[in-house]
Amino acid sequence: MSNHIQLLPDPIANQIAAGEVIQRPASVVKELLENAIDAGSTNIQLIIEDAGKTKIQVIDNGQGMSPVDARMCFEKHATSKITKVEDLFNLSTKGFRGEALASIGAIAHVDLKTKRTEDETGTLIEMEGSEIISDKECASVDGTNFCIKNLFYNVPARRKFLKSDSVETKHIIDEFQRVALPHPEIAFQLVNNNSEVYNLTSGSLRQRIVSLFGKSYDEKIVPVKEDTSIVDVKGFIGKPENAKKTRGEQYFFVNDRFIKSSYLQHAVTKAYDSLLAERAYPSFFLFLDIDPESIDVNIHPTKTEIKFEEEKSIYAIIRSAVKQALGKYNVAPSLDFDQESSFDQFGSFNPAEPVSPPEIKVDKTYNPFESQRPERSSGGSSSFSNSRNSYTEGFKSGREEQSWKSFFDDLESKGEIVYEEEKEQETLFDKEVQSNLFFQIQGGFIITQMKDGLVIIDQHHAHERVLYEQFLKSVEDQSSGVQQLLFPENIELNASDYVMLEGVLPDLVDMDFDIRPFGKNTFAIYGAPAELSDTNVKALIESLLDHAKANSGWLSNDVQEKLARKLAHLGAVGRTKKMTAEEMEALVGQLFQCQQVQSTPDGKPTMIKHGLRDLQKQFLH
Ligand code: ADP
Ligand code: MG
Repeated sequence: MSNHIQLLPDPIANQIAAGEVIQRPASVVKELLENAIDAGSTNIQLIIEDAGKTKIQVIDNGQGMSPVDARMCFEKHATSKITKVEDLFNLSTKGFRGEALASIGAIAHVDLKTKRTEDETGTLIEMEGSEIISDKECASVDGTNFCIKNLFYNVPARRKFLKSDSVETKHIIDEFQRVALPHPEIAFQLVNNNSEVYNLTSGSLRQRIVSLFGKSYDEKIVPVKEDTSIVDVKGFIGKPENAKKTRGEQYFFVNDRFIKSSYLQHAVTKAYDSLLAERAYPSFFLFLDIDPESIDVNIHPTKTEIKFEEEKSIYAIIRSAVKQALGKYNVAPSLDFDQESSFDQFGSFNPAEPVSPPEIKVDKTYNPFESQRPERSSGGSSSFSNSRNSYTEGFKSGREEQSWKSFFDDLESKGEIVYEEEKEQETLFDKEVQSNLFFQIQGGFIITQMKDGLVIIDQHHAHERVLYEQFLKSVEDQSSGVQQLLFPENIELNASDYVMLEGVLPDLVDMDFDIRPFGKNTFAIYGAPAELSDTNVKALIESLLDHAKANSGWLSNDVQEKLARKLAHLGAVGRTKKMTAEEMEALVGQLFQCQQVQSTPDGKPTMIKHGLRDLQKQFLH
């Protein structure tokens, strides 16, 4: 029998390794930036074209490489960062596996120009598919210049798998931010398709945060500092009142390496305790310095999870450090309990400075409809097709179904439902809502009389349904319902948000937003859908971006439906909004013109009906 086993040739082995290390252009960016930092650079420039698919270039002023090292660096397991096993447990560099350049060299065209200060001339190497195709002496400045072209040129499946340019660019910007944040002492530039996105000068951490995320952060953050024998914690946390509805800027770094940890995230959130409104997420930029021996370093280079030996103590230390910072900078918010006392329930958090309990004005016993709450409908749209005739079939389950069913059965038997298109339009609103009397009760509910009882409409949910259908309709019918703003507003974004908004701009324009680029990282909002006249459009767009950021991949398919759903949710009138009789009538009228009347796009009820019979039953026996 002959033997079958052979060693894989290097180019193939490297390509396989590349599959793990280099998933997308952003992975190349991460590896090159980290190498530049490890080389002791004080200035690093990142230049990308076409979301890194055509070109990723990193130019540094670090220590450079000798002619031999310049060839060697592309070899598998070629690293200058560890020489013995013990080094692994004492790492101060970002790289150590010597895998990145070998991988990149296997799946792209690479030009490397590098020179050490002590050398007269530099080296220029051209590499293609793990082969050095040219190696020359050249004139060069000190430092290293890597230019990666045509990434995945020989791995078509990978190339095809890449997302749109705006998504890939966003990943690159995320990586750039994660590398630039822990190194405020290094100057960084980022140039995307010939336009400068960031020009970060060296400075303090606070300055770095502000130049990455916007001027307003200067006001929004307070410092954290706590040194213990286990871990040193420093950085900044956002003031509670600036917490966002979705996870925004939340960064942990361990020994200057970005990590993800829901466990430690929990420690931070716990420290804010009742200072945060429900489902609000604070920003934080926290840097942990830990003895490298007490963390598991043998993790995969692309993974951002990490294992700590003393996880529980670190949790407690972070929590207490954040708590202290909140107390010290006295950022317990000036509480306004008169406003929405039922929504934001703050408690005291600092026993040293007790906050007196809020005077709650809500009559807690006041809930006349408690026993009548319907089960949530499934919200499926199947039963509410375009045909209004299927209306009665839309009520799926339980008491709700019963009550509606009898309501419609009644109408039907009295011949009051006429199954014809034109008359139907009239019927639904005019016949059901038998009144021009609309009452608004606390909590954002509208009560009105119907033919056979009364209906309680949740104004927020109802408006959400109305907006959702209107957004989708405006995409379809192309007619413009833009209402120009009296005072156009500028929305200044960080680079990553800019790219994201740019990516969905055509969809927003279809939905009757008039938003246009306006200089560097800025958009101007000139108009918005007429239905949103009362809404703060800028805040709406910001919340939308927050949501997209917190849910990566959210907009990768069904973009318009998802935008419509989210914008409807964010733009719908709040429950505290007082409504005039006309506004209530208009809203209820619009709701009854929707294809699906009884629930929001997410399946929450828009209304509860109390049929006359129901009421009678309750009162008369
Ligand atoms: P690792 O970073 O794990 O050592 P890499 O494949 O990323 O592996 O890099 C291999 C080696 O190439 C590094 O150890 C370093 O000696 C050298 N190198 C890479 N990039 C640079 C750079 N920008 N400046 C100087 N040396 C570099
Ligand atoms: Mg490296």
